[in-house]
Formats: sequence, C-alpha cells, structure tokens
Amino acid sequence: CGIVGYTGLNYQSAPILLKGLEKLEYRGYDSAGIYVPDTKDQLNQLVKEKGRVAELENLVAKSDVEGTSGIAHTRWATHGVPSVENAHPQVSADGRFYLVHNGVIENYLALKHQYLEDVPFVSDTDTEVAVQLIAKFVAEGLTTFDALRKMTSLLADNSAFGFLLMDAEDPDTLYVAKRKSPLLIGLGEDFNVVTSDAIAMLDQTHDFIELLDDEVAKITPDTVKLYDAQGKLEHREPFHIDIDA
Ligand code: GLU
Repeated sequence: CGIVGYTGLNYQSAPILLKGLEKLEYRGYDSAGIYVPDTKDQLNQLVKEKGRVAELENLVAKSDVEGTSGIAHTRWATHGVPSVENAHPQVSADGRFYLVHNGVIENYLALKHQYLEDVPFVSDTDTEVAVQLIAKFVAEGLTTFDALRKMTSLLADNSAFGFLLMDAEDPDTLYVAKRKSPLLIGLGEDFNVVTSDAIAMLDQTHDFIELLDDEVAKITPDTVKLYDAQGKLEHREPFHIDIDA
C-alpha cells in the first residue's frame, strides 16, 4: 500500500523511513515493516509488526537499528492474512534480498510451481514469490539488477507492482521497478529517496522523478540510473513540488 526508501551518507535512515510511513497512514493498512542493511553487526535490522506504525516505531527503538539506507512498507493485504510473516519487507530464503511491494502479482502461483518448488516459503504473499525469484536468478549468475528485470518480465501483464528492492551485499543501493502502481524517486544532496506518494518524503526533498510503467532504476546516495523496459539508459528531468507536507 505505501512504500518509502532512503539511501544516504550522513543521516540515520530509520527515523526518516518511519516518519514517511506515518505520512502514508491515511491510506489505510494492516501491518508495517522496515529493513535497514546491517553495516555494524546489528542483530535485528528487519522489524515487522501487525498493527500501527507507532508500534513499529517502538520495536525499532528497542532493536537499536542503525544504518544510513533502508526500505519500509505499510501493507494492505491482498494475498495472505495480515500477520508479521506476511508483512513486508519479504526476504529471500538465503537472507540476502529484501523486497517491498505495492499491488498484485496475478500469476504468482504458476511462477511458484514453475521455478520455486524447492524453496522454503514463510509467507502466503505473492510478494515472496517475487523476491525468491530474484534470489534464484542471482544464484544462477545474473546481477541483482538483471534478476529484478527478469523477474518483472515474467509477471502476467495484468499484474500491478511498485517494487523497491535491497541486496544486503550492496547496502547503499536501492532498486525499483513499477507497473500500474505509482513510484517516485526523490532527489537530495548526498542522498536519494523512493516513495509511492510524494507526501511521505516532502520533508527530505521537493524534486522528484516519476517512474513510467516498466521502467527500472538503480539508486545510490549520489546517482540515479533510470532504464526503459528494453534496458536502455534514459534521462528525465525531475519535477518540483511547491507545497509543504
Ligand atoms: N499483494 C501484496 C500483499 O498482499 C501487497 C499488498 C499491498 O499493496 O500492500 O502482500
């Protein structure tokens, strides 16, 4: 339902992401979660909660989450009941990939049977199929970026997705892809953000690039690389939003 992501150099990401989720609460949700990549041997950098964002904030405070990048989500369940296991981020079985998702993958069961018979699943979500596919394609030799593209190319046309992905082995990088579900990249000085709704990130920036259907992007604190459906690098000027949150 709601997506936020942050990658920067100077600030802790968790407070920024949690504040972003608060701004998205008005849309409705049944659970929430956050992942901050482990850069200092922290133990619990994935925190999920069935309930309010305020409860997630309490759990994050207790977990000593630290880091300058991360992703977070408010979920409105479509596949699988509201629960901690079904909340996002969804994680691949190897523990390397973390994915938040808005929308619905129409052919997720067919993909699960075709590609993932041997993979242990912990949730009932369509989203977990997507993140397990990415891990499988990376294990077969693709880069994370190409695995994301290959996964989205397998999704039935009538699917809807805003995907925001992190690879624990590359903790400064955010990967995004979208179809029929909005996703924006917000531009900052020494940081960049991702959000499904600009209102969540107006505290951070007023300059946004809106992704078009089937575009994919790779984002670090100081670069945004946007690609079309064929994998060709594109350039688009950001637009400026003049209102405050
Ligand atoms: N289909 C996904 C799920 O049920 C995402 C729902 C959403 O858009 O929040 O987990």
